[in-house]
Amino acid sequence: MYTEMPSSIEIVEVSPRDGLQNEKHSIPAADKLALIARAIDAGARRIEVTSFVNPKAVPQMADADDVCAGLPQRDDVTYIGLVMNMRGAERAIASGRIDQLGAVAVATDGLGIANQGQTSDETIDVCRDIIARAKEAGLTAQATIAASFGCPFDGEVSEDRVVHMARELAQSGPVEIALADTIGVANPAHVARLVERVRAAINPLPVRVHFHNTRGTGLANVWAAVAAGASTVDASIGGLGGCPFAPGAAGNVATEDVLYMLERAGIETGHSLEKTIAANHWLATLMNKEMPAMVGKAGGFPKPAGITERTAA
Ligand code: ZN
Repeated sequence: MYTEMPSSIEIVEVSPRDGLQNEKHSIPAADKLALIARAIDAGARRIEVTSFVNPKAVPQMADADDVCAGLPQRDDVTYIGLVMNMRGAERAIASGRIDQLGAVAVATDGLGIANQGQTSDETIDVCRDIIARAKEAGLTAQATIAASFGCPFDGEVSEDRVVHMARELAQSGPVEIALADTIGVANPAHVARLVERVRAAINPLPVRVHFHNTRGTGLANVWAAVAAGASTVDASIGGLGGCPFAPGAAGNVATEDVLYMLERAGIETGHSLEKTIAANHWLATLMNKEMPAMVGKAGGFPKPAGITERTAA
């Protein structure tokens, strides 16, 4: 069902964690901090800065404590640290710099066991413990349901299962529940249906969405989610991203592509498209490769005065 579109949407910048975690060569903490600084300058006010996981499993995140130590002191920016268990939660809290714990429950046993060594039910329990611990420490927590739209191991995922999990997780009082398309298999009809059902189940808690553009449906899914009432969208500068435990996972939806689509449609994000594109180009130079983002290549529209659109001959 098509309803009125909202006047604004929140974007969570996830490039420092989801964007970089799959990159093979190690990126120095100083460069990660430079990326975070660029994201803040471009308007990001909620940023997934790192994850507190086993460095053997995700070597790129071994510098979580260094990244935290260098985060700018900003009262207006919420720093999210992803954690998979209580050990990670304690590390994130001990850093003294993380505002919000990101807890992850997994919709299937297959991915749960591969990703964090737990069945789906066990991930709900751990997630709820993490949320409770965050609150006890004076932090907030977000809860994400991974593989909400499909699983690399178990295939199709039951919508009833995801709705049930959202309801269970909501009882612990996270700031929101996120539906994550970990391997990029969602389509807009599925997204609209599930966002609407989960919204109804956890009302008044908001719904966040997390899409990977593995099969080219990323932006369509964002639009469907926003139309169905999702309040917050995860996105990654340049469209970097992947999951070491989800075979075939490709990049997150690109922040600049999401910004362009929403802003052109009259939905405010509070982010600067120009500064985000500049961050893309900086990141491409740093990583020495072209970023997947489309708007990063083409630029926005209309062009600032004096610059003409490139045309295909
Ligand atoms: Zn992801």
